[in-house]
Amino acid sequence: MKYALVLVNIKGLGVKTFGYIIPDEIKDKIKIGQAVTVPFGRQGFIKAFVVGVSDYMEEGIKPKKIKEIIDDTPLFTLKYFKLLEWVANYYCTDIINVLNLAIPIKLIDKSAKTEYSVEFLNYNNATKRQIQILDKLKEMGKTSLIEFEKQVKTTRTTMKKLDSLGCIKIKEENIYRNPLTIFKDNPKEPLSELSGEQKDAYEGIKKKLKSPNPILLHGVTASGKTEVYFKLIQDTLDEGKNILFLAPEIALASQLTQRIAKKFGINEVAIWHSSISDGEKYDVWQRLYNNEIRILAGARSAVFAPLQNIGLIIIDEEHESAYKQTNPAPRYDAKVVAQKLAQFYKAPLILGSATPDVSTYYYASNNNTLFEMPHRFNNSPMAKIDIINMQEYSRAAYKGIITKQLQTAIDETLENKQQIIILINRRGFSTSTQCKACGEVIECPNCAIPLIWHAREQKLKCHYCNHIEDMPDTCPSCGADALRNSGLGSQKVESLMKELYPNANIERIDSDVLTKKNSHIEILNRFQNKEIDILIGTQMIAKGLDNPNVTLVGVISADSTFNLPDFRAAERGFQLLTQVAGRAGRGEFSGRVIFQTYNPDFYALDSAKEQDYEKFFRTEIKSRQEFVYPPFTQIIRVILSCDNNTRAEKSVEEIANRLQDLIEQYGFSEHVEMLGPSNCVIERLNGLYRYQILLKNKLHEKGHKFISKFFKSIKLPKDIRMAIDVDPIDIL
Ligand code: ADP
Ligand code: ZN
Repeated sequence: MKYALVLVNIKGLGVKTFGYIIPDEIKDKIKIGQAVTVPFGRQGFIKAFVVGVSDYMEEGIKPKKIKEIIDDTPLFTLKYFKLLEWVANYYCTDIINVLNLAIPIKLIDKSAKTEYSVEFLNYNNATKRQIQILDKLKEMGKTSLIEFEKQVKTTRTTMKKLDSLGCIKIKEENIYRNPLTIFKDNPKEPLSELSGEQKDAYEGIKKKLKSPNPILLHGVTASGKTEVYFKLIQDTLDEGKNILFLAPEIALASQLTQRIAKKFGINEVAIWHSSISDGEKYDVWQRLYNNEIRILAGARSAVFAPLQNIGLIIIDEEHESAYKQTNPAPRYDAKVVAQKLAQFYKAPLILGSATPDVSTYYYASNNNTLFEMPHRFNNSPMAKIDIINMQEYSRAAYKGIITKQLQTAIDETLENKQQIIILINRRGFSTSTQCKACGEVIECPNCAIPLIWHAREQKLKCHYCNHIEDMPDTCPSCGADALRNSGLGSQKVESLMKELYPNANIERIDSDVLTKKNSHIEILNRFQNKEIDILIGTQMIAKGLDNPNVTLVGVISADSTFNLPDFRAAERGFQLLTQVAGRAGRGEFSGRVIFQTYNPDFYALDSAKEQDYEKFFRTEIKSRQEFVYPPFTQIIRVILSCDNNTRAEKSVEEIANRLQDLIEQYGFSEHVEMLGPSNCVIERLNGLYRYQILLKNKLHEKGHKFISKFFKSIKLPKDIRMAIDVDPIDIL
């Protein structure tokens, strides 16, 4: 081949492909996926990726020569690149955005650096201090030189000295860092014997593995879905194929990885998520590429890790919105990408949940790929749920917030030395700061939403843009000394609980706490070891926790999730409440759940109380059909924003008019419906005024193509931003 097509990221213009001549010296070495350097106009030499080779070049083009290959090992295969291209197309974004997300760019720079390994040989003439270092090295075995120097706090000079004495051997080679070494490599545990219900599900799933549609395992909390996955994993390993296993967030992915490592050993298992270090990503990437990893577990971005020879994809807690990236682009849904990946490899995709996404459930039941496990593994009953109507009880409640019933239940649970989870689905201290004299709510100067008081830092914070300011002494609007924090956040609940239960061990988990790496695992482990009596938290604690000693779950304000102006609000609320209720009574002691609410008759709350998914589904699917929401249509949301309100409004109207004309021209009016343009629910964000167009596309691929082509053709003035969100998870 004479020419290579390379992908170049041009500053300010995004990514483009260009043809280059392949010089003779590298003709035999060049491969798809390699990083190369190419001359590029005034920018000099820049980095590029080979995405194709050919004997022909378009006429009239005088290509230049590739300078050199940066790294022999290709970063990806053609198949892999095709997947990224598909993602870019489907989500209406530039491939560079997908590449930037998928391939840790620093990986290329890293690979250029030489790494050294070090190994103990003998104590030949070593001094006392040197012997200490050698002892340590002997104990550790062969390891990375840099890592060893860091750990033992020694210098390169000392190590070189030891090398010249012949006590150690330093060699140029890469020693992989395994992020899993924080887990112990104990002897493998055998797989559990499946219960009757689990066996039925497992055998049913086995018969559907060739189905092109996703398979849904709908099992109540603690039905033992993970045990069923493990059997399927073992079968896939036995066939010589590899497994991708996704969990919705980092904490759950880490927990899951621990469980997998216990069963299958740490050497063939790796973890991938946005918080592993660049060095670790580089290493895992290489090991994946060399097919040394059999099971990759991770959060949503792991769907882009270059795992080879995939034979099974599992997505646990598939209903979680965390599988969708909302910002920045690509606004991809790992579930959708995984489905494409599964098609590429002809591998089955298994989705698991106690509270499936309404669309997933709808498709699986229509396609006959739905498997149910309605009972808990050890037949322990589902927790008993009480709804407390706050309209009747708030006056009797502690500070109007914690009812007598909940207090009594907490007292009893603490007495029995059992543990408690309290859900409050808002972080911060309160939900807003309001002037009691004039009603003014203190809002973020950049976003049209209230600032939230954070008691520990004594600051007002914006949860959208992170703007931080001091609490004003008086109302900025009327000057009265009447500012009050109202509404409830996790910090306030924590401080009330500490007042009520000074002798209990109380901890809080929410994204304000989880700033340190691994701190969430540390708190969860302490909770698991019974060092914490009451764990308070936002939706983070509703998921995955399997602690048999938890017998009480309290939900402080069960309405808070239902009140959003979004078509998925009922679904989200139902899922959250059912999931958190599922944390209680998983062991030998029965569980109790208390929902405090101002809205006790709402259907989603009522089905959550009965933990009856089908009942919820039947009501919900009817309303989706009536109002034409997913799964009865695809939604594409386009947001235009600008720091100038008039300009934003003008441009959104122009675009909407043009689109409406085209829809009519093509005769799509029946099937592509445009809602808006309108203000977004959050009208201003980060200083930008926001308008949206919602499209309901009932034409599947044809409509999707039409819409994405239209938006691709739009040329916008510099100050106007456009974000296209295909299958948005919310429309706020
Ligand atoms: P789910 O994922 O459905 O919520 P898990 O897989 O976490 O449930 O199982 C709940 C608990 O029951 C776990 O502690 C698990 O080890 C245990 N368990 C489930 N199935 C079995 C089985 N077949 N044999 C032994 N223990 C099981
Ligand atoms: Zn803000």
